[in-house]
Amino acid sequence: MLVFDESVLEKYRNLVRGVEEDAINLHPIQSGGRAGDYPGVVQAVLRFVDGYSVCDFCMKGRLDLIDSPPLCDFHRDIADFLDMDVARLFPGCRQAQYAAFHALVKSEDTIIIDSLAHYSTYLSAERVGARIVEVPHSGYPDFDLFLDAYAEKIEEVKKETGKWPALAFLTHVDYNYGNVFDAKSVGKIVHDYGIPFVLNGAYTVGRMPVSGKELGADILTASLHKSFASPAPSGLLLASRDYAEVIFKSSSIRGPWSGRSFENKEVETLGCTLPGCVVIGVMAAFPYVAERVKHWDEEVKKARYFIEQLERVAGIKQLGQRPHNHDLVHFESEPFFEIAQKHPRKGFFLYEELRERGVAGVQPGLSKFFKVSTYGKTWNQIKLAAEAFLDIARKYSIPIH
Ligand SMILES: *Cc1c(COP(=O)(O)O)cnc(C)c1O
Repeated sequence: MLVFDESVLEKYRNLVRGVEEDAINLHPIQSGGRAGDYPGVVQAVLRFVDGYSVCDFCMKGRLDLIDSPPLCDFHRDIADFLDMDVARLFPGCRQAQYAAFHALVKSEDTIIIDSLAHYSTYLSAERVGARIVEVPHSGYPDFDLFLDAYAEKIEEVKKETGKWPALAFLTHVDYNYGNVFDAKSVGKIVHDYGIPFVLNGAYTVGRMPVSGKELGADILTASLHKSFASPAPSGLLLASRDYAEVIFKSSSIRGPWSGRSFENKEVETLGCTLPGCVVIGVMAAFPYVAERVKHWDEEVKKARYFIEQLERVAGIKQLGQRPHNHDLVHFESEPFFEIAQKHPRKGFFLYEELRERGVAGVQPGLSKFFKVSTYGKTWNQIKLAAEAFLDIARKYSIPIH
C-alpha cells in the first residue's frame, strides 16, 4: 500500500486505493490491466518515475529509436509478438484508432464499422469527418455480428457514393458482451475489395494469442492499460508493411520564414507519445504477458464455470455468444432487479452485498444487467466470487437450481 505525505492527504482525500488487495475485483476494464500483479513492473516504473525519464539518450529524436533503455528492441519485439511489421506506442487504444483513421480517411469518406464498436471508434470517425456505415448485429440475447454483411455494406457504399469505403473496421471482442468475432473471415472479405482492414484488439491483445497476419489485419490497435498488465495511459498502433508508410508518415512541414523542419518526427504521434515511466511499465509487463497469453484456454474455462454457477440462480442469464469464449461476461439479472425495486438501497444493494462478501467490480447501482470479468483470477477466487452471488440469491430467497 502506498504511503502519502500528510499534506497531500489534507488536500485530497481518498488517495489510497486498496480494492485489488482487499477484494476480488471483477471490473471488466480493470482485470487485464493490473500491473500490480507483477512486482517487476512496479519496480521498473518507480525507477523511471521522473517526467521525461526515457529521454536521457534520445539521440535520433524518436521514441522507437532509443537504444537505452532499449525501446528500439521493444518496438521490434512487440511487433513480432503480434505478427505485424511496425509498432508505435500511443496513450490508449482510442488515440491509436484516431491516428489510423486520420491517416487513412479523408473528410467525406465513408468507413465501415461494426455496430458493437466502442464509443471511441464512433468518436474517432466523427473527429476525422468520416461518414459511417454499420454492420448490424442480431440483437438480444446473442448480439452476434452479421459478419457476411461486410461485403454487402462495402458494395452499398460504392453504389451510393461511387467510391469504395476508405477502410473497414472490426472490434475483435466487443466491450459489452465479450463476443469474439472471426476476424480472419472479415479480413478475407475486406481484402477482396483491396481496402484496409483495421482490427481493434482492445480486449484481445495481451489476453489471448493474436497474430495480425493470420487475421489479415492491415492495422491493429490495442489497449495496454486494459489488457497488457500496464499502467495507464498506454496503447498500441501496429501496421503491416503495406500501410506503415501512410500510417507513420514522417513530417514534411517547413517553417516558411524560419526554414525549420522535423523530418525525423512522425505526424500521427505528434512526434512523441509515452516519454516516461508508462512505457517502462509496458516493457516490464511484456515478458509476463507473453507467458500469460499461452494460458488463454484456462481463462475461458474459468469464465464458463462462472457463468454456469451464476445461471443456477433462477432468472439470471448470460447474454452474448454461447458457449462463451471470453472472460468479459454480461448478465441479465431480473431477480436482482426485482429486489432492488423494494430495497431501501435500491440498485446499490447488489454492489453493497457483494462488497460485504469481498467481491468488487460490479458497477454501483446496477442490478438488472451487469458486466464482470474473470480474467486473471485464481480458481479459488472464481469459486468465492460465484459463491458470493449465490449467497445473495439465498439471502433474498431467489430459487437456485
Ligand atoms: C476499452 C476499449 C477502447 C478504449 O481503450 P483506451 O485504451 O482506454 O483508449 C477501445 N475499444 C474497445 C473495444 C475497448 O474495449
